[in-house]
Amino acid sequence: MGEAFRYKDGEFYAEEVALSKIAESVGTPCYVYSYAALKDAFTGYRDAFSDVATLICYSVKANSNLSVLKSFADLGSGFDIVSLGELIRVKRAGGDPWKVVFSGVGKTAEEMKAALEAGILFFNVESVEELGLLNEVAVGLGKKAPVALRVNPDIDPKTHPYISTGFKKSKFGIEIGKAAEVYREASGMKGIEVVAIDAHIGSQIFDLTPFTDSLKKLIALADDLSASGIKIEYIDIGGGLGISYTKDEKPPKPAEYAAVIKSVLAGKPYKLVLEPGRSLIGNAGLLLTKVIYLKDGTAKKFVIVDAAMNDLIRPAFYDSYHEILTVRESGEPEGTVDVVGPICESGDFLAKDRPFPAVDSGDLLAVLSAGAYGFVMSSNYNTRPRAPEVLVNGSSFAVARKRETYDDLLKAETD
Ligand SMILES: *Cc1c(COP(=O)(O)O)cnc(C)c1O
Repeated sequence: MGEAFRYKDGEFYAEEVALSKIAESVGTPCYVYSYAALKDAFTGYRDAFSDVATLICYSVKANSNLSVLKSFADLGSGFDIVSLGELIRVKRAGGDPWKVVFSGVGKTAEEMKAALEAGILFFNVESVEELGLLNEVAVGLGKKAPVALRVNPDIDPKTHPYISTGFKKSKFGIEIGKAAEVYREASGMKGIEVVAIDAHIGSQIFDLTPFTDSLKKLIALADDLSASGIKIEYIDIGGGLGISYTKDEKPPKPAEYAAVIKSVLAGKPYKLVLEPGRSLIGNAGLLLTKVIYLKDGTAKKFVIVDAAMNDLIRPAFYDSYHEILTVRESGEPEGTVDVVGPICESGDFLAKDRPFPAVDSGDLLAVLSAGAYGFVMSSNYNTRPRAPEVLVNGSSFAVARKRETYDDLLKAETD
């Protein structure tokens, strides 16, 4: 997971800050992000695509903390949003609205209006009905809505079914075979200006072929449309590049991804839009937690920690693997354990049957690769306040979101 998180003198560090120091200061559980790691990930993409006209639109839903968004905005990133809430965050963080693309299958008139008023780059329209409503809203405002159709290229990204989005049977996008017809309809609408084509085929993808297969289909469609007088300026190829959750996983680097994308796009007049989320922030964050109890059952050993599925739902939801390290450097595994939280659900685990070193109650653990789809998917289940988020930069750190209080949890409710 790069250089940002590593052991130094027997202790796990985020850049130049010992995790034990963060735990002491803000308590546990706590999300810790590294500015250096997110910057490296962003510049990796930027440099890899620097020789073609490319806009990188960080996918806000992966991690929408304002400090994270501000970091990306300051690095020159655009943003891929899926709700009005995310637009509000991007504006608050100083992001440029004209570098924003708006995805999502269920945009409401209110959301369309706000995005039109903000002046976003384009809408990724996912259905004919949505196109009709967007046209109406734009006409009502005396504006033209810049539009891409999100097409469904019917491609298997070979990833988890919950994060595969480009199959024919998926709820996302417009079937590619029907897209030209919808584009013709769109180009005749008073409130619509066709500018782009978009696809997003899934997430945590390791194989580059689905990306190039999808891009080839998008280019063929764009060429056909351009020949028939519908000008396509941008091709948005979505996000989805995978990251390593274990040491053995070797996802393609942005440079390898860029190389194949650029070779397919070579000689074409289209500008490129990318929507990476996980690959920009996933390995720039971890979840810091503390061991509460050890429980030695007859069949199993449990390490009970103070972080739970409400803090990090990925293991329960996707059966995903997160590496877990002891903050105090430890020796070889001593046995196999389940690392579980305090929530009243059997699905409340962070690791199952995991070879683990000896630990004691009070020890700190770092759950790695938790920067993406971590805090943003957290909840208050079991009336647990959501964890704070900390952003480390060099030898200093700042609280990017305070721990929720019990008053925060109850203040919107009546008794
Ligand atoms: C979630 C999402 C992304 C980001 O996906 P990652 O796998 O995090 O890169 C990009 N575009 C759209 C439309 C999405 O829904």
